[in-house]
Amino acid sequence: MAETVDSLKNAQRQVDMISKYLDVDEGILEKIKVPRREITVNFPAKMDDGTVKIFTGYRVQHNDTRGPFKGGLRYHPEVDMNETTALAMWMTWKTAVVNIPFGGAKGGVKCNPKEMSEGELERLTRRFTWEISPFIGPDVDIPAPDVYTNPRVMAWIMDTYSIIKGRAVTGVVTGKPLELGGSLGRFEATGKGCVIVTAKACQEYGIPLEGARVAIQGSGNVGGIAAYYFDSMGAKVVAISDSKGGIYNEKGLPLKRAMECKTKHDRFIPEEIGDCVAITNQELLALDCDILVLAALGNVLTGENAADVKAKMIVEGANGPTTTEADLILEEKGVIVLPDILANAGGVIVSYFEWVQNLQELLWSEEEIATRLQNILERSFEEVLKISKDKKVSLRMAAYILAVGRVAKAHELRGIYP
Ligand code: GLU
Repeated sequence: MAETVDSLKNAQRQVDMISKYLDVDEGILEKIKVPRREITVNFPAKMDDGTVKIFTGYRVQHNDTRGPFKGGLRYHPEVDMNETTALAMWMTWKTAVVNIPFGGAKGGVKCNPKEMSEGELERLTRRFTWEISPFIGPDVDIPAPDVYTNPRVMAWIMDTYSIIKGRAVTGVVTGKPLELGGSLGRFEATGKGCVIVTAKACQEYGIPLEGARVAIQGSGNVGGIAAYYFDSMGAKVVAISDSKGGIYNEKGLPLKRAMECKTKHDRFIPEEIGDCVAITNQELLALDCDILVLAALGNVLTGENAADVKAKMIVEGANGPTTTEADLILEEKGVIVLPDILANAGGVIVSYFEWVQNLQELLWSEEEIATRLQNILERSFEEVLKISKDKKVSLRMAAYILAVGRVAKAHELRGIYP
């Protein structure tokens, strides 16, 4: 994208936009617009060819007023402090809006995991874990998967941290493999949660999900899984993409073949899949459809392209995909936006279940997890909807009023030390 967006300014502006609805001390609002702690580490890792490369990693701990810091770790060439801080702040609002007892954090390493071998990724992960180990822990800060990290990476973090401590510490990360204290339902939780929130919103706004045309930007852990659930609920997935581009069929894609192709070649090849044509990611955003799911990276809808959106509803599976300029344009157009901090909260909710199971050394059934996830998301949607109706504001503003209000109240109750 040509336009560069300051993610942190965007995140801070979102708080400013709702401050007039809250009866909160100005000082507390200023405090929650900045992170509590920012950690930068520069560390070496050995490459397969014997050379040593220096990597830069971050962990930004935004807020732990309501509970331990919580949030993912991403491995991506564009990871930087500005965006990591915005993402950490969004985690604070996410855990608050669904009312789970965590704060917010985010981290990452600037690297290109697609060009690294498994061994290189393991060495990078283990050294990064060692570098941030004084600052994380089951009751301090609990990382999880995010863009281009997965249960395998979480297992290395858990192992490295456990070696440092001299005992198995399963609760230090969530999103682990099932065999290592991972939770049933965690892997699919974010994508599934998006669909739970969308189904509820469709009911409320009178958009039948059955037969709805859904375009999905992104086909990873969020987009790919959301596509499966939308399809199984009778919606019609008309487009899906990855970072290289997408495929489209206005009558609905042959989803199974498309995902098989993606798994096999790590891209969508229209000739191999059949019954679809190639489209760019920009074209996908402007498709004539009912529901547009943004499940790739941040800042994809901006002041420059938001006016092109034709969908009735936008579902933010990614974190921060819509800038504040785009938000205003969408609101004017009457597009319903299901905000990231609610729409993609399924992941951190099941992370919370995983952490609770680890601490109590319990195992919950898949059914128990599915029911609890659905209850929390539906209740949170209703709470946000009520504020949106009472105060006549967008769902994003309503979600922020609820979330920032909860964090500010917690600050007020704890008071300022000394
Ligand atoms: N990375 C996910 C998110 O952005 C999950 C975080 C977690 O489970 O802690 O919400």
